[in-house]
Amino acid sequence: MTILDMTKKELEAEVRPSFRAKQIYQWIYQQYIFSFDEMLNLPKSLRAELSQKYSIMPLRVLKVEESRDGSKKYLFALQDNLTIESVLLPMKLEEFDEDGKRVHHTRYTICISSQVGCKIGCAFCLTGKSGFVRNLTAGELTAQVLLIKQLNAIDASRRVNIVYMGMGEPLDNFDNVVKAVGIFSDIDGLSISPKRQTISTSGISSKIDKLGKMDTGVLLAISLHAVDDETRAKLMPINKAYDINSIIKAVKAFPIDVRKRVLFEYLVIKDVNDSLESAKKLVKLLNGIKAKVNLIYFNPHEGSEFKRPSEKDVAAFAAFLNSHGLLCTVRQSKGLDISAACGQLKRRRENELA
Ligand code: SAH
Ligand code: SF4
Repeated sequence: MTILDMTKKELEAEVRPSFRAKQIYQWIYQQYIFSFDEMLNLPKSLRAELSQKYSIMPLRVLKVEESRDGSKKYLFALQDNLTIESVLLPMKLEEFDEDGKRVHHTRYTICISSQVGCKIGCAFCLTGKSGFVRNLTAGELTAQVLLIKQLNAIDASRRVNIVYMGMGEPLDNFDNVVKAVGIFSDIDGLSISPKRQTISTSGISSKIDKLGKMDTGVLLAISLHAVDDETRAKLMPINKAYDINSIIKAVKAFPIDVRKRVLFEYLVIKDVNDSLESAKKLVKLLNGIKAKVNLIYFNPHEGSEFKRPSEKDVAAFAAFLNSHGLLCTVRQSKGLDISAACGQLKRRRENELA
């Protein structure tokens, strides 16, 4: 078992004296040391004992693709050789310091997977098409961020955001995801506050309710993708169990920091949901919710029955939302040249190997 599966509390109950847990956490998550032998302030006997009991990094890099916009997509192998994808999305920001001097700043967002495969089976998604294999453990979730920080020499003090938008449905792996949220936020660990973690879900309303009641402080993103139940059920079979109304109700009950918003992701697909009529319905649907809409160009993959929308239609859709007071951004097909949408890198490698 990897030691990354353990919260600091669990580790404190394991090692004596308990302050060793804090030291171990700091070595791993702040110094990026993945071997107990190098943890020099631990007694030799403890290092030997830990090496016997635990592994540390459960991931191996199989492939990296870098996009022209700077994003990097990783294909990782797990200990059982199954594969997952994670993406590093750097955003260059220009800011000015106290003397008015321009300083460049990079903000990092890391997109992580929560399962190998997915049970939800959305019609447009490659991950969904390949079926479900298994849940990731909490340690396999945190390892994705940890390894990407190490590989890119991102200093421990740098702020990083996490989005659970890779492969899999996070709320279908509820306990491990909630555990990971806690491990991520540990101040002796990666110290990523829940307010900088966004869980994206296909809309399992009962689990949104459950998560809300736990009041973890995480942010919520809903993969809405359609404004009427008929269209949505065609794209996302889960809509038959949890319809749009049930999702809106769950979102309204979800506790969100007053300065934050619920993100609604809307995958724009040509001739399916890209009309102004849909935009109009979307404005109505989200009325009364502190929402932000993220329009995503559908990214066609081999054998897909759907098409990428035109730039003109997406721009008109966005303009309609904005002019009706609904905050909206268009995801500029980040890393289109690196098989950006989830599941596509994995699939390409499988094809190459076949
Ligand atoms: N299962 C969760 C977590 C993210 S799924 C959810 O559905 O919210 C990964 C993200 O990739 C989703 O936002 C989904 O809409 C998007 N996605 C899947 N296939 C895509 C494609 N072909 N083009 C663009 N985005 C895609
Ligand atoms: Fe699963 Fe999300 Fe893909 Fe749907 S879009 S199949 S929920 S990973």
